[in-house]
Amino acid sequence: MVREIVTYPNEILQKPTERVDEIDDEVRQLIKDMFETMYSAEGVGLAANQVGVSLSIMVIDTTIKEDAPDIKLVLINPEIIKAEGKVRFKEGCLSFPGLSVEVERFERVQLKAIDEEGKERVYDLEGFPAIVFQHELDHLKGITFLDRLTAWRRRLALEKYRKLQREAQKV
Ligand SMILES: [Zn+2]
Repeated sequence: MVREIVTYPNEILQKPTERVDEIDDEVRQLIKDMFETMYSAEGVGLAANQVGVSLSIMVIDTTIKEDAPDIKLVLINPEIIKAEGKVRFKEGCLSFPGLSVEVERFERVQLKAIDEEGKERVYDLEGFPAIVFQHELDHLKGITFLDRLTAWRRRLALEKYRKLQREAQKV
């Protein structure tokens, strides 16, 4: 089932999500719905709080991005173990329709997370999938890409976003 994507400034995007203790049917259904919702919006990553559920779960699928490795992951309670390198990339966000901002991220990350079967796993990501992961991890911590900008660039981005929203309402 495709769920509604929560857009900024909804408060759920600005508070940290809860850790998942048990992977039950509800969580499995949520994960399924998150993939469907992400695909229908042509996104490459989605955090659970973006569909209004404050749990530490993200899905990633970079298959639609042509020049990036095809990585499909479900990450529950993810944490960074190691990170290195710096890269700047113009990111979009399904919770900020139409807005894209350049953000600095680590180039490579090693992370641990629980998979859908409840097993703890370690992943090494590099380049685009690593950027997507860090963007979604921020969501799970209640951080949006605006919080990664300097005060001045943040103000410009917010102005642009508000303008985009006003234009969208007119249609
Ligand atoms: Zn986002």
